[in-house]
Amino acid sequence: MREEAEVICPACHESIPLTVDPDKGSKTWVEECCVCDSPMTVRLLVDEDEEYTISVKEVVEAVDDAEGGDILEETKVTCPACWEIIPLTIDLSAGSQTYSEDCSVCCRPMTVRVWVSDDLDEHTVDVEAESD
Ligand SMILES: [Zn+2]
Ligand SMILES: [Zn+2]
Repeated sequence: MREEAEVICPACHESIPLTVDPDKGSKTWVEECCVCDSPMTVRLLVDEDEEYTISVKEVVEAVDDAEGGDILEETKVTCPACWEIIPLTIDLSAGSQTYSEDCSVCCRPMTVRVWVSDDLDEHTVDVEAESD
């Protein structure tokens, strides 16, 4: 016997209708939200009295943070050429490094020196004009 149930979408939090068939017992499947199209895992649990509960869970895309994902930090530096304050994104997971970056305002190159402590808790950023 099919029954109409309602679940709350874990992505958009809208209440969406769902047809379940508790006669077939407990099962888990993936359903797409009819409002936001996000996939969700639906788990139907049927007990001996044929009472059932439905739980939904957001399907999380597999992220390979096992690979040691980037730890990006937004910071602001003063361009040594035009003295504008420009945003800079540094990758703390790459550790201490020195590289060359073009100012987003005046496009002149500058040397960016990033120091990162071993536990990645502290970091400092220095910039200086690139010598010709
Ligand atoms: Zn949704
Ligand atoms: Zn500049």
